[in-house]
Amino acid sequence: MATSKTTAGEKAARKKAAPAAGAAGRGKARPAAEGGGGAETAAKAAKTAPAAEPVAPAGRAAGGNGASAPAQASPKTRGTRKEKRKLKQIAIYGKGGIGKSTTTSNLSAALADMGYKVMQFGCDPKADSTNTLRDGSYIPTILELLREKGRVEARDAIFEGYNGIYCVEAGGPSPGVGCAGRGIITAVQLLKQQNIYEELDLDYVIYDVLGDVVCGGFAVPIREGIAQHVFTVSSSDFMAIYAANNLFRGIQKYSNAGGALLGGVIANSVSSGYQRAIVDDFVVQTGTQVMQYVPRSITVTQSELGGKTTIEAAPDSEQAEVYRELARRVDDHELSATPKPMDAQTLRAWAAKWSDQILAVERGDVRSAGAQI
Ligand code: ADP
Ligand code: MG
Repeated sequence: MATSKTTAGEKAARKKAAPAAGAAGRGKARPAAEGGGGAETAAKAAKTAPAAEPVAPAGRAAGGNGASAPAQASPKTRGTRKEKRKLKQIAIYGKGGIGKSTTTSNLSAALADMGYKVMQFGCDPKADSTNTLRDGSYIPTILELLREKGRVEARDAIFEGYNGIYCVEAGGPSPGVGCAGRGIITAVQLLKQQNIYEELDLDYVIYDVLGDVVCGGFAVPIREGIAQHVFTVSSSDFMAIYAANNLFRGIQKYSNAGGALLGGVIANSVSSGYQRAIVDDFVVQTGTQVMQYVPRSITVTQSELGGKTTIEAAPDSEQAEVYRELARRVDDHELSATPKPMDAQTLRAWAAKWSDQILAVERGDVRSAGAQI
């Protein structure tokens, strides 16, 4: 169970003493809201207690946490903010459990460390995208707030995480009720209507989206006018590749109507030669590229168990450098493209080819540097 490790008083003192410190200024803990939300909310409240107070961007800049309207938050907390340029909106998709939130949070943390103003927008009904940016604590989702209050000010749903990252969770409907993507539609509309991105003067908004199905709300970030670039997290496992290929079909479909285009694949948990070879072949077949190879690492596990990103918990580790390199590549990335997804039959044949190849290597029939197991 996540608990706040620092009192509000200590935080205020730390904030004064070291405004750029990563943990400083995260929303102070308060008791979880009680009652009125039904079984689901109560269960969630138990899981999430203690909850957090939303960040009040104007107040944060001034060193307080009043509920004043969002304003031009001071970039001073980051010290070395990069030159302001156009807001870059990125969507990270991938199969459930593949490592989207881990990768996204480390990417957000690395970008914040580079001096950018970043918002991480969790679009998975699991609503755990931003946990490791906030010492393992959950934040109330936009849908939960709506259920509780009927109307939500966007700033009530924005919480401060590592190095000033703005954390938002869209949330999902009550289990078994309605469209799972409803939270994304609602949350995106809310933040757009209230001009939050402009008011916060953000450099990056990163959507962390469950990509098993690219329909309904889950397609929102790639439809017209939201994200410009999509990256997909995939391992060499067939189901992850299958989900990535499905995503490519969605991107292709919306690309004619001004939708987001594909930046590339973030190859996660890719440690051996044959795993790399499978992902490499997949990107060639589908006309895209690998943005970064992220090995499976115990440092990630250890950091997550401590409620933190690897960037925060183990900044000097090799794995942190892998994430920083990914952030530099994402930052430099300008040109995304329409992917060329495989049709069902081609994908099946492609998988069968790899199955045969791995079998051949296992039997010792083939010795290929790219296909070592
Ligand atoms: P998703 O957001 O796609 O559902 P998560 O980011 O929550 O997936 O990751 C699922 C689990 O896999 C987490 O426990 C996470 O720590 C672990 N994980 C993800 N990437 C790595 C990695 N490169 N090395 C070790 N563990 C990882
Ligand atoms: Mg996730």
